[in-house]
Amino acid sequence: MELPQSLSHAYLITGGSEDSRTQLAQRMTAAYLCTGQPVPCGVCRSCRKVQGGIHPDVQWVTTLGDKREITVDQARALRADLYVTPNEGARKVYVISPADALNPAAQNALLKILEDGPAYGAFLLLAAQPGRLLETVRSRCETLALPPQEPQPDPQQLEKAEQLARLLLTGSELEVAQGLTALELEKPKSAQLLDLLALTEGCVAQQLSAHPARGAKVLQILKQCRENGVYNPGPGHVLGWACARLFG
Ligand SMILES: [Zn+2]
Repeated sequence: MELPQSLSHAYLITGGSEDSRTQLAQRMTAAYLCTGQPVPCGVCRSCRKVQGGIHPDVQWVTTLGDKREITVDQARALRADLYVTPNEGARKVYVISPADALNPAAQNALLKILEDGPAYGAFLLLAAQPGRLLETVRSRCETLALPPQEPQPDPQQLEKAEQLARLLLTGSELEVAQGLTALELEKPKSAQLLDLLALTEGCVAQQLSAHPARGAKVLQILKQCRENGVYNPGPGHVLGWACARLFG
């Protein structure tokens, strides 16, 4: 995600995955403190300290020990720390993650500094469930919503799809027939087979330039398998049909 041109003092970072929210917070923290160009340059002393997690003007606030909430004591400690001027940077950056773990008392304790704390204060609130934050907190932050996370295919399924794609694109009639029979013997459930065919379609599409004519045919067959629900009577029917179509 592109960073905002000029940084506001408080952001609510939502959406995406926990990792993607954390990565964005790290880049923004570096941007607040960077002394190079373009911001964040990634190579100046400040950027390197942020990357190394040793910048004295950055604080990550999270739940302590086995607690499920960020407590009002932690919020008060943050507030007290904020009024001590920065050590070496132009700003002091507080990353609160997960911000939806702030209990209501802690949120209330932060309201005033979110509203009109010292100008050098910067706040990044990371939340999977922003609805759990008080409206008064949310309204004091600008929201940065990351795109929803794409579900990642199971690596084993992906490998299988890649093998199947290779077979369909380059195998002889006999090899394809044998490969599909082996797949059939595993007796995949319809839903699994459907997922596998969808993944395989993706793999074939990526290799289309290397095998244009056969690739186009394979794609069409896979698409028909999925769309027509030919898989319903059982994989044997689909796969036999696909093999006949490919070499027929
Ligand atoms: Zn920098």
